[in-house]
Amino acid sequence: MNFAGRTAKLKPEGAYQVLALAQEMEARGQEIIHLEIGQPDFNTPNHISMAGIWAIAEGHTRYNATAGMPELQAVIANDAGQRRGIEIFPEQVLVSPGAKPNLFFPTLALVEQGDEVIYPNPGFPTYEAMIDVARGTPVPAPLLEENDFSFDLEAFDRLINERTRLIILNSPSNPTGGVMPLADLEHISAAAQRYDSWVLSDEIYTRLVFDGQEAPSIAALPGMSERTIIMDGFSKTYAMTGWRLGYGIMPAPLARRVQLLFTHALGSTAHFTQIAGVEALSGTQEPVEAMLAAYQLRRDTLVAGLNALPGVSCRKPQGAFYVFPNFKSFGKSSIDLANRLLEEAGVAVLPGTAFGAYGEGYLRMAYANSVENINKALERMEKVLKSL
Ligand code: PLP
Repeated sequence: MNFAGRTAKLKPEGAYQVLALAQEMEARGQEIIHLEIGQPDFNTPNHISMAGIWAIAEGHTRYNATAGMPELQAVIANDAGQRRGIEIFPEQVLVSPGAKPNLFFPTLALVEQGDEVIYPNPGFPTYEAMIDVARGTPVPAPLLEENDFSFDLEAFDRLINERTRLIILNSPSNPTGGVMPLADLEHISAAAQRYDSWVLSDEIYTRLVFDGQEAPSIAALPGMSERTIIMDGFSKTYAMTGWRLGYGIMPAPLARRVQLLFTHALGSTAHFTQIAGVEALSGTQEPVEAMLAAYQLRRDTLVAGLNALPGVSCRKPQGAFYVFPNFKSFGKSSIDLANRLLEEAGVAVLPGTAFGAYGEGYLRMAYANSVENINKALERMEKVLKSL
């Protein structure tokens, strides 16, 4: 069958492929420890779920405004603005079913054939997919382990030019957990202004930062509000992946154009989901604090355990719920290693190359799993690694 060229390079997400394989093994009776899936293992906090259930019972089950419920737009503008120290107006906020549409549609609205888009590699696979569909030219920018997986700024300076229409950032990062320091964001902001490029800042993990630190947002730097799209959402912070609720914050003229794409592609986001979202942002934040504390303990357990394994080295990431340990000393490809760990240890992880070529030699492990399971996974991995 013939398909449109704009879909020719689309690939499935690696996480779903490994999950399918792991589930097949489970169906055959093998016990698998899941460190491949990038979603919280916690349930949605009860007060948020109850708000959604109540909203359905009350009949909030109809079409609603394409850009989102005005009350939710206002709550998001206030919360996101306060957290980043900037002023955000409700008309700049577009609510979407999950955060992903606020990656895809702003990219479609901005990028034309021949426009270059710089994006992190290793990075979230959706970036390359949406650049391809928009017919832009993907320009992968390497992340550097020795910079705690922030951009290699020398490489970035070589890649940016007059054709760079958009720069995608993701801090804290999937797959590395790295947080970009303010100085790096200032460097990128100066370059974006010099070359008149837009910045799409994927901040979905911005509330999941450890040791009392915060991840700075490029949107808060001088001159950036008129050229930045912030993408954020509820999936990770509030353990709401299946509710499908996210948002974008962008200059109002761009929001009006992207809203037209939403009108024709999405219609609107579920009303009851948005009512749950209002509760998430305006209700108690204690469950978020409790989840963050649990993630931090798991991170510390996993990082210490990995560094104790012969031949493995692992940076301590400041955010998200991923580690990106270096396995280069084994001289095997990431895919080989990930397959061996799944088949011989029953531990499901992702090869670093599922996030781009610069991920070779690394594995991504999500610690959205109990400390007990993390310790069990470490023991099992040690046996396999010793046999290599
Ligand atoms: N951006 C990054 C970096 C992610 O890891 C994810 C989810 O895995 C998303 C965006 C998408 O979030 P959502 O599930 O709300 O669409």
